[in-house]
Amino acid sequence: MTTHLSRDHWEKLLAGLTLEGRHFIDGEFQPSVSGETFTRIRPMDGRPGGTLSRGNAADVDAAVASARAAFASGVWRHKEPGEKKKIMLTWAELIRAHGEELAMLETIDVGKPVMASLHVDVRLCADGIQYYGEMIDKMYDEIAPTGPKARALVRKVPLGVIGAITPWNYPMIIDAWKLGPAIAAGNSVVLKPAEQSSLSALRLAALGHEAGLPAGVLNVVTGYGEETGKPLALHMDVDMIAFTGSTEVGKLIMGYAAQSNVKRVALELGGKSPLVVFADADLDAAASAAAWGCFYNSGETCHASTRLLVQRSVQDELIARIRDVTEREIALRHPLDPSAQIGALIEEAHMEKVLSMIAAGEREGARRAFGAERVLSETGGYYVSPGVFVDMTNDMNLARQEIFGPVLAAIPFDTEEEALAIANDTIYGLAGAVFTRDMDRAHRFSEGLHAGTVWINTYDMSTFATPFGGFKQSGFGRDRSVHAIDKYCDYKTIWQQFG
Ligand code: NAP
Repeated sequence: MTTHLSRDHWEKLLAGLTLEGRHFIDGEFQPSVSGETFTRIRPMDGRPGGTLSRGNAADVDAAVASARAAFASGVWRHKEPGEKKKIMLTWAELIRAHGEELAMLETIDVGKPVMASLHVDVRLCADGIQYYGEMIDKMYDEIAPTGPKARALVRKVPLGVIGAITPWNYPMIIDAWKLGPAIAAGNSVVLKPAEQSSLSALRLAALGHEAGLPAGVLNVVTGYGEETGKPLALHMDVDMIAFTGSTEVGKLIMGYAAQSNVKRVALELGGKSPLVVFADADLDAAASAAAWGCFYNSGETCHASTRLLVQRSVQDELIARIRDVTEREIALRHPLDPSAQIGALIEEAHMEKVLSMIAAGEREGARRAFGAERVLSETGGYYVSPGVFVDMTNDMNLARQEIFGPVLAAIPFDTEEEALAIANDTIYGLAGAVFTRDMDRAHRFSEGLHAGTVWINTYDMSTFATPFGGFKQSGFGRDRSVHAIDKYCDYKTIWQQFG
């Protein structure tokens, strides 16, 4: 990756880019059967971005047929493990080699700073494909303990055709979380990215094909959720839907699976994660984690630490330090400015929703400490500054609903028991954190917190080696780690009796 990354460099790259917006089906770009398209508006400046194929059931049918044919032929799943591994590692290298282009596609679509797209999203996407590629020649099957007169092989087999439906907040990363294990396990995939963020998915698929993925193993169909995602989830020839998105749509996906062929589902859904700070904590570390945990990616993060539970005696001090970290470190700028740490929200309608939730919160009695206002409107883009509300109670809407904007709700508490009760008083169970110097309390609290990931004295640490996902209405099934492979496979037992 190059290092000459001035604003001018990115502006030139943007001006020279050709945006491919057709579906990727059976190893090539294809327009919609209907010929219809839609135009994406760039959140960074409100100008037109890519023109995408507007998919419907006919396009989904074509993609599923291609995926099924590839699976049935065994062209991918029966390839030598070493060969499959080489193709996936080449794919990861191609993603790195096209890093700046992919970063720009992501920024055009979702408005995050292009440097973050490059150094976080592209990097983690490539690392994810590599991680699962490296697993391919390290997976073994089992022989069951049956005695000498028979043998039972317990084979772990791919499911077949996987429908992957992904959101817009970390498109490339979440695509890799699905594509890596699903394809490494030997399946074919039809990916339906969010309508707001299809450009990087299309490019990823083309790079996979260039690396050697056979036609049909990875297809991308673009379009709206109701018109493209729904027929995919209802499809009778799809074996599983791997979904990441809102709890509301996740419930629909479960319904579609039940109404069609009882396909499996894995759901990575929303969150309202608590970050709990006791008075004995390192307040600088807690302030930094609280600010970055909530405001990174403009708060458009499923596990954003949007509820700050703070022991009452240190609330004012902690909020002052959070404000300081935010003003010093979390620069909200135009996404092509290399010094930007956060950029635009995903679209105008979402910005309006965030602003109206803030206004409703104030009417409900939430007290603004700083920020949470529309800014940079002169750019034509959709920007809201990071902000904190204090003296909140956990029954207020800002503390209960997923805002998906840079808004932190600070809720004071007095005792550990009260903090744990408030932390668990949510429909979600995705993540959480506890800050204290008392390690007994830290571990007691971590055990009590009903969440898929708990951090002690830090926030948002992760590697591919750790599973990610939630409890309660944050969904079920885990992305990342060796365990993610399991949900794209099932066991098949083959008996043989000896004479
Ligand atoms: P969303 O509205 O639920 O959409 C997610 C995906 O579902 C999109 O591709 C969407 O397509 C599609 N979709 C919408 N309606 C559908 C339907 N009726 N049938 C089938 N597919 C449909 O979520 P989002 O706004 O993109 O993303 C934000 C949400 O994702 C938040 O709730 C966040 O917490 C969650 N999230 C969770 C995780 C996790 O790992 N737990 C990670 C990231 C995000 P369209 O875009 O075309 O509508």
